[in-house]
Order: sequence, then C-alpha cells, then structure tokens
Amino acid sequence: METNERLRQLPQVDALLRDPRAAALIEAHSRTRVADAIRTQLDDERRYILENGHETRPFSPDIFFEALHRRLAADSRPSLRRVINATGTVLHTNLGRAPLAQEALDALAEAAAGYADLEYDLTTGARGSRYAHVEEILRRLTGAEAALPVNNNAAAVTLAVNTFAKDGEVVTSRGELVEIGGSFRIPEVIERSEADLVEVGTTNKTRVDDFARAVTDRTRMLLKVHPSNYKIVGFTESASRESIVALARERGLVAMEDLGSGSLIDLARYGLPHEPTVQDAVAAGMDLVSFSGDKLLGGPQAGIIVGRDDLIRRIKQNPLLRALRIDKLNLAALDATLRLYLNEDMLRTRLPVMRMLTMDAATLRARAEDLCIALNALPNVSAEVQPGHSYAGGGALPEEAVPTHLVAAAVDGRSAQSLLDALRQYDPPVVARVADDRVLLDLRTVAETDTETLVAAVRALAS
Ligand SMILES: *Cc1c(COP(=O)(O)O)cnc(C)c1O
Repeated sequence: METNERLRQLPQVDALLRDPRAAALIEAHSRTRVADAIRTQLDDERRYILENGHETRPFSPDIFFEALHRRLAADSRPSLRRVINATGTVLHTNLGRAPLAQEALDALAEAAAGYADLEYDLTTGARGSRYAHVEEILRRLTGAEAALPVNNNAAAVTLAVNTFAKDGEVVTSRGELVEIGGSFRIPEVIERSEADLVEVGTTNKTRVDDFARAVTDRTRMLLKVHPSNYKIVGFTESASRESIVALARERGLVAMEDLGSGSLIDLARYGLPHEPTVQDAVAAGMDLVSFSGDKLLGGPQAGIIVGRDDLIRRIKQNPLLRALRIDKLNLAALDATLRLYLNEDMLRTRLPVMRMLTMDAATLRARAEDLCIALNALPNVSAEVQPGHSYAGGGALPEEAVPTHLVAAAVDGRSAQSLLDALRQYDPPVVARVADDRVLLDLRTVAETDTETLVAAVRALAS
C-alpha cells in the first residue's frame, strides 16, 4: 500500500481518546497523560511508516492500545529497580553496595513514615544535634574520643582536609594517591578542599623520612590512605601509622587516615583476608580516621569520622558540613546497623554483608547443586556446578577473592552473551557474569527467596 495512504489511515487523537479501551487508561493515568502518550505513539507510528513505507502493516487498534498500555505503565514505574545480583560481588557499587539488615530497614521505615527526634532533645524540649544519635555508640565501638557521621566517606575526607588544611599543605604518599570508582581521586579531593597536595616517596616505597623532609611551615596534615582497590606488591615499603603519628605530634600536625572500607571487626577471625580495623587506627594514635557506612560496615551510604574531640568540634563548625550532612533516613539505618555490632556473635546472621561474605562452602555448593537440578529440568538448558571466586567489591579486600561454587548455565542455540543480556532485561533484572560461553551465576549474593525467580527467568528465556 502507498505510504501516504498508510499515513492517512492513522486515527485522530480525539477518536482514539473516545475508544472504549482508552477509558480504563484515562482512569488510571489521567486524560492529559493518555492524550500525550497517544500523540507520542502516533508520532512513532508516522516515523515508522515513513522509514519503512509499503512494508508496514495496516493500523491495528489492538496493537496500538496494547503498546499504549505498556508505555504508560513503564512511565509510572520508578526508574530505580530492584535487581537480582548473581555476580557474587557483595559490595557492588553499581548495584547499590550493602543490602541493609532487617533492623536497619525497620528503623529507616519508621523514621521515613513520620517525625523523629532528629534535632530535638526530648529531655529538655530544646534543639538537639542530629549527630548525637550515633556518637556514643561510635565511641564505644571504636575507642575514639568523638565521632561524626556525614553524607559519605568522600565528604568525610573533604571536610577534614578543608577544616584543617585549607590554604595549607597535605602530605601524602605517592603510593596512596588512589582513585575510587572514577570520581573520587585523592589529589582532586585535596584540591577541591582548597589545600595543596604534597606527594612524597615513590609508587612502591615511602618512608617516614620522606614525610619528614616534606614538612614546611605550610604543612597542616599528614594523610594516610588505605589503597582499598589495589595492592602494590613486590619491593615495597610504606610509612607505618605509628611513625606518621609520631611525626605529626612532633611537628604539631593533624594525622589522618582514610580507611576506605574500615571494618569494625577483624575479618581474619572469619577466615577472610585481614582488613585494617578502625579500632587499630584509633589505637595507633591517628587524630582522625574516616571510613564508609555502606562498605564492609554493611550499613547505608554514610561517611564516618572518628577521632580527637577538639578536632571533631572544629569540623562541626565548618559551614561545609551543612552541605555534606547525613540525612534522616541514612542516620536511622546507620544507627540501627551500628547497634548490631554490640553483639558480634549476631553479626553473621543479622548483617547481610557479613552473612554473604562468610557463607560457607558447603552451603554454597548445596544451593548451587539445587539450582543446577532445577535448570537442567528445563528444556534447552544445561547447567553444571564449577568452582570459582566471589569478590567483596566496593574497594574492600583488594584483589582478594573468596572461593565459591558457581552455576555455569547455557541455553541451546543462544550465545552466553545474548543470554546474559536477556537476563538483564528480565523483570526483575538479573545481573551475572560470562566466561567460556557460559553464564555464571554466583548464589552468594542471591537471596534464597530469589532462587525461584532465577529459574523462572532462565525458563522464560530458553523457550
Ligand atoms: C570508597 C573509598 C572512599 C569513598 O567513600 P564513599 O563512601 O564511597 O564516598 C574514599 N576513600 C577510600 C580509600 C575508599 O576506599
């Protein structure tokens, strides 16, 4: 048929609005939105006809309204979607880092749904401090004199450097000028905090003498950064905490350590690679220590600064704090997460990050075998268990892989890459990895309640 005739056949917006099928959509989405959606969709049809000419099908109201319904439904759905993380990377930054404990979820929901004593002292009826809610527990858990929660760890470093080294110099080891996730680079953070960075040592070796030689009358801070996401191996040396602390004391400087992930417990006790703890940094005499709330700590996005009381007081007077402060919901979740640490024996069952990181090999293997049985029962699907590795992620436990049991799945007549792509488009989306033309599913990061959904996704894509 002629292109022009095809175009003429397209109905008017008003006619489509009068169609009985439009009524239910108007009730659900409003007349204005349905009219807008009809216009956009007619534009799409028109463009399609112009591009494809006589090959196009005649206009079908059924198909049109079906697509209109999908378009309006997609528009109403929040953009942020729940995802099944089958990558095995526990603190996957792109997938939102730490899933919260039930206790944190409850606290968050309660704080979100109503009012709270966020900045209100219930004893006196006077104005209170939002930071006071977690200060005492952070002092108890870390042994520090004072503590301050902020928006995230990047904010914590920015605030501290800006408070103490503005218009002065910060000395840092060349081997520790890290970049985390592309947007946090220590040199740029220091620059934006209005301080000058002085790099000392070489990539692989820095001694405390290098720091000492760099100190001038403009120096304000010695900054140690935990290289969270990489490791320098071989012929290496770095200035010890103790030596940096001693130098800072001698020269009247602030000694700060950015721990990145900053665990509150010794992970080696659970058979995981050792990660420096916050308590160790505080005990070594660091004046300030900063770390994230949503990495190994297993809480919400937050940054935590602990250290000397007089210094924390000065940070609280920095006007930047207002722009970088922690919000009510994250504070509620952080508070509840920290309380779980009061009973370390409970952590492995209550805190999802710890539960996932310490999941034992036998459990993982049994879950992987069950999934394989379910997948192999599907037509066109083959799956087998194979040994592999999970990762902590989030710039924690650099390079250290935790052994796991993977499910390697394949669908007849379909490449692993295309299966991987389709899984990502499934509802809910499933994120996994590919190796040797197999999709690899790591159940370490998949909730038990999601295993069936995983099977349903593969079933839908294999048929
Ligand atoms: C992750 C990390 C940061 C940034 O922390 P956010 O909480 O993501 O802002 C800063 N420093 C180090 C060493 C890190 O590992």
